[in-house]
Amino acid sequence: MKQLDIEALDQQDCLAHKRREFVLPSETIYLDGNSLGPLTVQAQRRVRDVTEQQWGSDLIQSWNKHGWIDLAQRCGEKIAPLLGAAAGQVVCCDSVSVNLFKLLACAMQLNPERNKIVSQAANFPTDLYMLEGLQRMLGAQHCQIELSSSEDLQSCLDDSVAVLLLTQVDFRSGEMLDIAEWTAAAHQHGIQVVWDLSHSAGALELELDHWRVDFAVGCGYKYFNGGPGAPAFVYVNAKHQPNIEQPLSGWMGHRAPFEFEPAYQAASGVKKFLSGTPNILSLAALDASLEVFADVSMAQLRAKSIGLSQAFLQLLTSAPELHELRCVSPLDAQQRGSQLSFEFNHAYGLCQALIERGVIGDFRAPNIIRFGFAPLYLSYADIAQAVAIMIDVISHEGHLEARHSERKAVT
Ligand SMILES: *Cc1c(COP(=O)(O)O)cnc(C)c1O
Repeated sequence: MKQLDIEALDQQDCLAHKRREFVLPSETIYLDGNSLGPLTVQAQRRVRDVTEQQWGSDLIQSWNKHGWIDLAQRCGEKIAPLLGAAAGQVVCCDSVSVNLFKLLACAMQLNPERNKIVSQAANFPTDLYMLEGLQRMLGAQHCQIELSSSEDLQSCLDDSVAVLLLTQVDFRSGEMLDIAEWTAAAHQHGIQVVWDLSHSAGALELELDHWRVDFAVGCGYKYFNGGPGAPAFVYVNAKHQPNIEQPLSGWMGHRAPFEFEPAYQAASGVKKFLSGTPNILSLAALDASLEVFADVSMAQLRAKSIGLSQAFLQLLTSAPELHELRCVSPLDAQQRGSQLSFEFNHAYGLCQALIERGVIGDFRAPNIIRFGFAPLYLSYADIAQAVAIMIDVISHEGHLEARHSERKAVT
C-alpha cells in the first residue's frame, strides 16, 4: 500500500478553511460529530443575540419582529437542498422519535387496506420503540410489525405490507442502504417507505425527490451541528401532503392558530407536521449552524469524509499494535456512511483512555468503538495523530487501567 502523505492531503483539502467556523477545544480530535456535532461560531453568536436582544429586550414581540413564528419552516427550507428536496417539503420540529410516530401514522393512512409495518431488527432502538408504541395504540390487529435481518429484507416485501421503515446508515456498523433501490423495490408492491436519515443528513449526498422518497426524518444535532437536543427535520413528499393527517395535531400545525378555533383544521403543506410551540433557542442554533453549508457542496463533503476514513483505516491496519481491532464497517467506502466501527474486547476502556488523551470517539454496547469523520473540521493531520495516540494507548495498556472501566450513564 502506498504511504500516505498527510501534509499533501491537508494542503489539497478544499474544505480546510471551514474549521475556523467551529468552536473546538485545542488538543482535542473530535471523532464524534456523528453523535453530537460541535458548536459553530455562528450558533454561538446567534444564541447570544436571541437571548440578549430578542428574548431579553424585544420579548414577545420577537415572534413577529424576529420571525420566530416561521423559523421552523425557514430552517426546513435551509435543510431541503442538502437532502435533494424542492421547497415546501421539509420542516424542523420535535425529535426524530416523535416525528417517526407522526410519519408512520401517515404512511399507514395511505394504505388503509393493509396493516403490516416492516423494519430492520438491527434498526436504531428508538425507531423500534416508537413502532411498538404505535402498535399498542392501534391494537395488534391494526398494526402488525415484522422485523427482518438485512439479508431477508427483500423477501419480506409483498402486497400485504403497508409501510417499510428503514434507517439508511446502520448506527453500529455504518453499513449504508441504497435509498433509490429500496424505495423502488417497496413501491413495486405499493408500500410506503419512511427513511430515518439520522446518520446520513449533512454527511451524504441525498436526492430524496429524485429517488421518489415518500417520507423521511433526520437529526439536527449530529452532522447538522444544531446543538444538544436540536430539533429534528421531517420530509414529506409534496404528492402525499394533501392526503394525510398527522396524529399529533397541535395548534402550531393548525391552519390559523391565532384564530383559536375550537376544531382542528390542518395547515396546508408540510407545516401541518408542527405540533406545539417551536423550541426557539434550539431552532436558532440549528438555523445558524446550517450557514456552514452555504458555500460547500455535499459532493465535496462526502469526498473528504471518504478520504479521512480511508486514511484512518490505512494507518490503523498498517499498525501491528492495533491488529486486535476488527473493522465491522464495510471496507468499501461507497458501502458505508461517514463512520468506522471496530470490535475490540476492551472497547469501553479504550474509548475512555482515548478521551483522556483528547481523541473523542464513542462506545456502543457490547464491544464496539466507533469513530465519525465529519469533514468540515477534521484534518488529515488529526487522523494521523488519532491513530498515533491509539497505538500509544494500546501499547502501554492504557485501555486496561481500572479507572477506565467504570461505565457512565451516557456512552
Ligand atoms: C440519533 C438517532 C435518533 C435520535 O432520535 P431522537 O428522538 O432525536 O433522540 C434516531 N434514529 C437514529 C437512526 C439515530 O441515529
